[in-house]
Amino acid sequence: MKTLRLILGDQLNLSHSWFNQVNDDNLYLMAEMRQETDYVKHHIQKVVGFFRSMRNFGNSLDNEGHQVLYFKISDENNPQNLPQLIEQTISEHKIEKFDYLLPDEYRLNQQLQEICDSLSIPSEVFDTEHFYTSRDELKNHFKGKKQLLMESFYRMMRKKHNILMEKNQPEGGKWNFDQSNRKKWDGSPEIPEELSFNTDVTELLDEIKSAKVNTFGNIDSKNFPWPTSHQECKELLDFFCSKLLTYFGDYQDALHTQEKYLFHSRLSFTMNSKMLSPKEVIDTVVEHYYEHKDDIHISQVEGFIRQILGWREYMRGVYWKEMPDYAELNKLDNHNALPDFFWTGKTKMNCLHKSITQSLDDAYAHHIQRLMVIGNYALLTQVDPNEVDAWYLGVYIDAIEWVEITNTRGMSQFADGGLVATKPYVSSANYINKMGNYCKECSYSHTVKSGEKSCPFNALYWNFLEEKKSHFKNNQRMSMMLSLLAKKSKEELEELQQRARKIIEQPDKF
Ligand code: FAD
Ligand code: SF4
Repeated sequence: MKTLRLILGDQLNLSHSWFNQVNDDNLYLMAEMRQETDYVKHHIQKVVGFFRSMRNFGNSLDNEGHQVLYFKISDENNPQNLPQLIEQTISEHKIEKFDYLLPDEYRLNQQLQEICDSLSIPSEVFDTEHFYTSRDELKNHFKGKKQLLMESFYRMMRKKHNILMEKNQPEGGKWNFDQSNRKKWDGSPEIPEELSFNTDVTELLDEIKSAKVNTFGNIDSKNFPWPTSHQECKELLDFFCSKLLTYFGDYQDALHTQEKYLFHSRLSFTMNSKMLSPKEVIDTVVEHYYEHKDDIHISQVEGFIRQILGWREYMRGVYWKEMPDYAELNKLDNHNALPDFFWTGKTKMNCLHKSITQSLDDAYAHHIQRLMVIGNYALLTQVDPNEVDAWYLGVYIDAIEWVEITNTRGMSQFADGGLVATKPYVSSANYINKMGNYCKECSYSHTVKSGEKSCPFNALYWNFLEEKKSHFKNNQRMSMMLSLLAKKSKEELEELQQRARKIIEQPDKF
């Protein structure tokens, strides 16, 4: 039976069982579409990264002998949207059955269901064979429980998949080494130069430009750094194991003006596009650890495994449990606009200047920059979560809604009222100074609490607590912060709030 099989841009899993055998009755369909470039404004490196990876993937299938129909963004007969693409291909190729892989985005899931309902031929949906969990596994794990807890989910996953376990007990005697993952990096140990693939993507970039795709951010078209094939992704994974894993956990939360990547893996894009599976990543890292046990402490490895086996799968489960309502949540009732400097990096606040400029230059920021610098500021200035989401979804090369929205709206902006995070991730300058050196080179002083020189984060922090305290009155984890707030004199609080109001009204002046 002549079958059309759709592969979306984030479904680049070469090991999928679809490809085990060549069958000339199967036509694989891939398309670079305006539908996907335009639903939000994307960083140019994100568009280039996905399109180049898709092209490499299509070529690999072709080389293996599979029938592939590939539409480039610049192809004249590219319908640029899914319904027309599928309809046109079915009719032109006399297709008798339509197959697709479970999309990870709610938007595409809905669209494909609607398309299938409208078809006059049978359709079938297949698993992507990528994640450890099914869409509903987290929902079932927490059935009947009042609170979702990442830690409980993570332990279940460790046991179920027998990862870093010794006779049914966690390796190293502890489930979680989070406490030892909080070192500041002060110049040593030396950080190896990042592995960059320096690909020339000029032609592709020209095609994207002539198609008038509206993007933002910077790119060096002669030296595109990201991996765009399974082979390159594997190289990045091996580089992480041999060069970075030894210190990954220690400096996971560190911030530094000169080091954009520290010991982070930069593997999120490889997994979110599915060029690497989380299992391939975890198996490789664990195997490397067992071979080098004398040199690598369990805390480094556990810290890494927790992010992928724990947080990544957890976020996916929360997404499918809570969507579509999740995308509308704004429990803290925040409605301010995103400052202009999010699009330029031009602000005197050094931590934000560095983190945002880096995001615009590299389509990447590590977790603590995303959470405790940029996200912290957005929450303290009470920016509308819709605007925060749109920015995060566009700017990072790894941003796909299922993992972006749960991190942004949930973990970072507390717009879900505490489904993902048990307390809001807000801090004054103190935390940013403790974890890095941004404050040393800043126009503001992290120790000054009020007045023109004072760090904006300080006034904003107390103002946020004062304005939003009714939301946290039953939250045990906020009680210490709220009792410190209660100790502030009326005059001190008024002064802080006046400064905070000025910052919130004219964020681009600070
Ligand atoms: P590493 O620090 O090397 O971590 C290893 C891997 O663990 C990552 O590649 C990633 O796959 C996984 N991981 C780590 N933290 C998380 C997390 N909180 N949730 C899910 N997976 C995690 N991650 C995305 O993949 N896409 C996003 O759009 C995204 N948006 C974010 C938005 C905000 C506001 C925050 C706070 C975090 C976001 N994250 C997102 C999570 C995390 O910041 C990135 O996965 C990480 O920075 C990617 O860099 P890395 O590969 O070097 O990560
Ligand atoms: Fe950021 Fe404040 Fe430190 Fe400046 S002083 S780097 S604004 S935390």
